[in-house]
Amino acid sequence: MLLIAFSSKAQSPNTNADKPKLVVGIVVDQMRYDYLNKFWDKYEEGGFKRIIQNGFNFKNNHYNYAPTYTGPGHTSVWTGTSPMNHGIIGNDWFDKFTGEMVYCAQDDNVASVGTTTNAGKMSPNRMQTTTLTDQNRLHTQFRGKTIGVSIKDRGAILPAGHTANAAYWYSGGNDGKFISSTYYMEELPKWVQKFNKSGKADSYLKEWNTLYDIETYTESGVDENTFEGGFRGKETATFPYDIKKLSKENGNYSIIPQTPFGDDITLDFALAAIEAEELGQDEDTDILALSFSSTDKVGHNFGVNSKEVEDTYLRLDKNLSDLLTYLDKNVGEGEYTIFLTADHAGGHVGGYLNSVKIPTGNLDYGKLKKEFTDFANQQFGEGLIKNVSNDQIFLDYEFMANEDLNPADVETKIEHFLIQQPGVYKVYTRTELQSNNFSNGIGYLIQNGFNQKRSGDIMIVEHPGSGYGRGSTHGSVFNYDTHTPLLFFGARVPHGETFERSEIVDIAPTMAALLGIEYPNGTSGKPLAIMLDKASE
Ligand SMILES: [Zn+2]
Repeated sequence: MLLIAFSSKAQSPNTNADKPKLVVGIVVDQMRYDYLNKFWDKYEEGGFKRIIQNGFNFKNNHYNYAPTYTGPGHTSVWTGTSPMNHGIIGNDWFDKFTGEMVYCAQDDNVASVGTTTNAGKMSPNRMQTTTLTDQNRLHTQFRGKTIGVSIKDRGAILPAGHTANAAYWYSGGNDGKFISSTYYMEELPKWVQKFNKSGKADSYLKEWNTLYDIETYTESGVDENTFEGGFRGKETATFPYDIKKLSKENGNYSIIPQTPFGDDITLDFALAAIEAEELGQDEDTDILALSFSSTDKVGHNFGVNSKEVEDTYLRLDKNLSDLLTYLDKNVGEGEYTIFLTADHAGGHVGGYLNSVKIPTGNLDYGKLKKEFTDFANQQFGEGLIKNVSNDQIFLDYEFMANEDLNPADVETKIEHFLIQQPGVYKVYTRTELQSNNFSNGIGYLIQNGFNQKRSGDIMIVEHPGSGYGRGSTHGSVFNYDTHTPLLFFGARVPHGETFERSEIVDIAPTMAALLGIEYPNGTSGKPLAIMLDKASE
């Protein structure tokens, strides 16, 4: 008689018994890794500290491609791959097949739900691969729900995937409410209508002052300086801000996302969604794709070294603490899993770096564009260059065919011209990217961001440290834009930390492994064994 013995330890690691009932995937827009360390002493016990002290901290987590923008970032987190495969090559890009600029979540075939504006004509139709959320829907025979929530449409829609029950985002202007699109529904559910009528948005048109005494914000630069944007209607970018008064000159309800109150209302809405949609209440794992956007808007406006950014993160820390407390009570401690990352990081203000003797490229894009266009016209004739966007030059293939020009020769000539220009650090061409396989360095990041079908033909890399005179930006291949937090916490997550490099495309396969489900179909990342192996010990 043949006896097959199964060791009790060798059972499937992914039985339903200990599966999380709810996954909350959190993307913090423009969060740099160093904010965890920089503001650590001021964080409270229940937020970032609780996640790190109990969960797993990947301290050397990076974007593996450029451009490091919001649309590609959110998509890469949830698809486990880079623009090379998922096709979201920018927030906006030149569609060479229609000859028009397109937006990453734009969909002209759907209509707005909950607003009379066009802010709801959105869907994930341009995303070419599946998400973790899609795979969970397929795995659970569509019993496990997906809800996406963010201030930004792209922050809600792309993470929620093709098969989401719903995605909701914020419409500012005269709306001040969360909306959706006919891609998901014909009208807003009752609970959303109720939320929108509750006066929440109005309650955030209030004074923004620092959470703690501003004198204690010693981790940031001085409040008044020449490197910050600020609001129309207020001369200096200094605390306090009368948001109600300033709203009139700053787009009415659109001002809320420009303050930490945008994160507050996002959390309010997310908790309302968990309750009304009964997320995490049965054995089929549900997923809430949650993205906090105000962190990005405050960063762009005031710069990464500002007291405004510090205050925004101290308040976000409270939001996280409130979220965990809510989940403990309503889903149960140990019954949910959280991951937290960012869609890109952000650099210091270029002008600030220069003021402390640190060199930056300060590339003048307008000037450069005119110069290489003149060069191309003179060398090859007018009409060769079709579009310039996202640091990419799109060439006209029909023009080259008619003029009997070899594309590789054209690319090389322009490449040589470009590399001689000030502010230009590196240049890559389509021919190089299609005939080489870069395994590291900047070429690797450019190649991962290069989609054969959608991308341009010549890619320009600016000098390290490039940026504007006021406020922070992002998009580059450099550490300040690629180094983001990656934290896991809750069910099936052991405590630990590592400096071993992880990449943003590893998140989706790691979560899929944790849930015991199929990886998204374009996955190029890997499950993070250092954490998962520890969990199954
Ligand atoms: Zn972003």
